[in-house]
Amino acid sequence: MKILVTGGAGFIGSAVVRFLIDHTEDSVVNLDKLTYAGNLESLASVVENDRYRFEQVDICDRVALEAVFRKHQPDAVMHLAAESHVDRSIEGPSAFVETNIVGTSILLEVCRGYWAGLPPQRRLSFRLHHVSTDEVYGDLEGPEGLFTEATPYAPSSPYSASKASADHLVRAWHRTYGLPVVLTNCSNNYGPYHFPEKLIPLMILNALDEKSLPVYGRGDQIRDWLYVDDHARALYRVIREGRVGETYNIGGHNEKRNLEVVEGLCALLDELAPRHQGLYGELITFVQDRPGHDLRYAIDASKIERELGWVPEETFETGLRKTVIWYLENQAWCARVQDGSYKRQRLGLHKETAS
Ligand code: NAD
Repeated sequence: MKILVTGGAGFIGSAVVRFLIDHTEDSVVNLDKLTYAGNLESLASVVENDRYRFEQVDICDRVALEAVFRKHQPDAVMHLAAESHVDRSIEGPSAFVETNIVGTSILLEVCRGYWAGLPPQRRLSFRLHHVSTDEVYGDLEGPEGLFTEATPYAPSSPYSASKASADHLVRAWHRTYGLPVVLTNCSNNYGPYHFPEKLIPLMILNALDEKSLPVYGRGDQIRDWLYVDDHARALYRVIREGRVGETYNIGGHNEKRNLEVVEGLCALLDELAPRHQGLYGELITFVQDRPGHDLRYAIDASKIERELGWVPEETFETGLRKTVIWYLENQAWCARVQDGSYKRQRLGLHKETAS
């Protein structure tokens, strides 16, 4: 297959692109606007591969999107491009509405036009895979209960509301126009190449810099963590074998309180990169909670396991250890994100194929 991946320079998108190049024979067109979250340095290992191409395009630019479809003639689209950080959505929701809702609607229209013009066999096998989040379900009260594919939507933040809107649009394009879509809603990801504004990389890098480790509220929020490479494998399974029109929840069965996560990181760092004096846990501070902060997310991933045979390979313990080791061994990548110099690599590193 030739797969068009939107948002392939982001955290999860780059893991998907690396997975496709390293573990399949498919070709990849990475389409990314390169916002602050897009980092081509996360793709250094695949950039020379003949099966990889890059297009710097905004999904809100319909003309440019159409040109990419005409030129590359993809067999499938994995749609990951999004504004993704909840705190940023609270400070400035417009970009989330623009990219996550309007941008997705434009991608849907471009896909629909392209798909309608394909020969019958390729029309049958074409897929648009929309990659979404468990945050569309709102939060769970108490320690029981899990999000299933039938849980009603109740998003809390501008981010999750924009992703919920996009999910509805994707389903509507399937129902109304017959566009062959699949959807996935996944829990919190972690792993290598994660932008250091998110909890796990932020805590690792702050700790190594001897800065405080700010935990929202009392750190009681519970998230269900999934190692990013397990997510990439799940996404590939869904785009190859998922039933058209269906949604699959993806999760790692790793429910942890935020404070537990930070304490786990501190313990790993104490072992792998001890401080000169004291323990990393002494750097933990509690800060005012985020407005509307969801308390608990937990995924029932039994449908993807039952129907497609996917289960995560990493436990939280093995995945967190791998992640800490990756950040310790890749401090140059982190430094270039932190000082902003990763943005200068934007052109030149990639075979840009704009016509
Ligand atoms: P990210 O912020 O790391 O990456 C997003 C990528 O999209 C960046 O490369 C950015 O440049 C690109 N992009 C943004 N706006 C664009 C636009 N208008 N046109 C083209 N490209 C654009 O995000 P991520 O964490 O990798 O998440 C990827 C997807 O997975 C998102 O749709 C997100 O909602 C979803 N998701 C994330 C998580 C998580 O824990 N991170 C969990 C479940 C689902």
